[in-house]
Amino acid sequence: MIIRNVRVLGGEPADIRVSGGTITEVGTGLQGTEEIVDGRGAIALPGLVDLHTHLREPGREDAETVLTGTQSAARGGYTAVHAMANTSPVADTAGVVEQVYRLGQEGGYCDVQPVGAVTVGLEGRQLAELGAMADSAARVRVFSDDGHCVDDAVLMRRALEYVKAFDGVVAQHAQEPRLTSGAQMNEGVISGRLGLAGWPAVAEEAIIARDCLLAAHVGSRLHICHVSTAGSVEILRWAKSKGWNVTAEVTPHHLLLTDELVEESPNGSYNPIYKVNPPLRTRADVEALRAALADGTIDVVATDHAPHPVEDKETEWAAAAMGMIGLETALSVVQEAMVDTGLLDWAGVAERMSLKPAEIGRLSGHGNPIEAGAPANITLYDPGARTEVDPRAFASKSRNTPYEGMTLPGRVVATFLRGRPTVLEGKLV
Ligand SMILES: [Zn+2]
Repeated sequence: MIIRNVRVLGGEPADIRVSGGTITEVGTGLQGTEEIVDGRGAIALPGLVDLHTHLREPGREDAETVLTGTQSAARGGYTAVHAMANTSPVADTAGVVEQVYRLGQEGGYCDVQPVGAVTVGLEGRQLAELGAMADSAARVRVFSDDGHCVDDAVLMRRALEYVKAFDGVVAQHAQEPRLTSGAQMNEGVISGRLGLAGWPAVAEEAIIARDCLLAAHVGSRLHICHVSTAGSVEILRWAKSKGWNVTAEVTPHHLLLTDELVEESPNGSYNPIYKVNPPLRTRADVEALRAALADGTIDVVATDHAPHPVEDKETEWAAAAMGMIGLETALSVVQEAMVDTGLLDWAGVAERMSLKPAEIGRLSGHGNPIEAGAPANITLYDPGARTEVDPRAFASKSRNTPYEGMTLPGRVVATFLRGRPTVLEGKLV
């Protein structure tokens, strides 16, 4: 196959020759008798890699399945996703992670790399079988109780020590539970006005500070999930200046949306579509997160794609589930927040949405530059398109997007997983 007329990382037009699932040549005017895919000047990026996806299977197949979630991922330009462990049963054994891994392979839309739970049942009481999950067919390297914080400092220390044996990483959902008991939205002027229980920034920052110190103390790798406050950025900048092995992610929604939407939005006030964990923060936080992603203090963009069925979201604020879907809008939101604002170029996007997440997850075969010899995991993206977000068009089984009706820039034109198109002309193949 020859993919003609694409701009690798936004550069000059070129052709990409693909054979046997591998990129064999990148150049201009490539000749051959192979099948031709016309890229029409689209930007070519290495297939995106998500470090933080909730696929909900096993257990909540009414919200998402591995198949629909990976179809959603492919439509968003992803070729690999890390599936979070908060399923039912929890992915805390070799058996469950292997089941999720195999479901991804059977679907064939996107590689699924299961994340293993840190503690049994995500209960924060005893360590799960981390070694067995690492040695399983799923080769787990990322461990997280995401949805819950590993708040016990001794357990967190033990987990950090344990994963060193297989070059694993603990991904912390930083939320001090006592400080956020009953919390409903960001603690600030607006939560006060709306009478909703506040979720203070310090609840996130205190855990990040503690865990950076713990990771440094035991000499292990730590990853911080969905950083949401300016204070967290300052702590990470300090930890990195020490040379500690700490990485961090930010979600697309925390790069674009603020807590003002809870009070006033095109979707009314108190609309649970904006209810998410961690909560949407202030404009100042959004600015700090964008700057941190631009300067590398925050390493990657991760979606925290969190599908929920309608009945769990379209209810009163206090009863609604927390979370937003994000796989099919991530690249557009990053373009809006980071590229169109001049903070990142397309090489910077590739680094933060493909190369770095693959490196943190120790995923071989993903996150490689588009060059001869690399696996043909490629996303073609048209940044000039403008699309009104219509959740009914999503491949995800859920519809809880905060962007419904918004016009966002860009469109994923095609996705190739080891040379096989999973999406062409914006549609699943
Ligand atoms: Zn989380």
